[in-house]
Amino acid sequence: MSTARDPDCLFCQIVAGEIPAMIIVQDERTIAFMDINPATRGHALVIPRAHVRDVHDIDTDDLRAVAATAQAVAARAVERLGAAGVNLLNSSGAAAWQTVFHFHLHVIPRYDGDPLRLPWSPAQGDMEEISAAGMQLKQ
Ligand code: AMP
Ligand code: ZN
Repeated sequence: MSTARDPDCLFCQIVAGEIPAMIIVQDERTIAFMDINPATRGHALVIPRAHVRDVHDIDTDDLRAVAATAQAVAARAVERLGAAGVNLLNSSGAAAWQTVFHFHLHVIPRYDGDPLRLPWSPAQGDMEEISAAGMQLKQ
């Protein structure tokens, strides 16, 4: 199992206990802690202990472990905070809004009538272009 660490990384410093965080779950591979700029009440982040930048770099077993921890946190958000829904979000790359370059999955509890909105307006796409992109992505 990787124990990679970047001494300049904020989240590695949280893993090492060098800067404070409100930790809510810890296991062998992952840590979950409260986001200091919460989008909604209970917004938490789940990270692998091992330093990796984004979805392209994370070890598959670590990704599974992060997903399992996020599922547990999501369940608590519903059971203990009364969330009506949950968004799981990862940003990989600056173009995708990533600002901290240690992989993390946001667990964002959602409440009826909360002010969060989708960052895009779903609109009918061009079927040819959808298929063309699909062909590029297909196995
Ligand atoms: P992203 O923009 O997807 O890279 O998300 C980074 C998240 O980390 C943001 O939601 C920040 O509010 C959060 N964040 C940054 N520094 C800290 C910190 N010291 N403790 C907890 N959350 C943090
Ligand atoms: Zn790190």
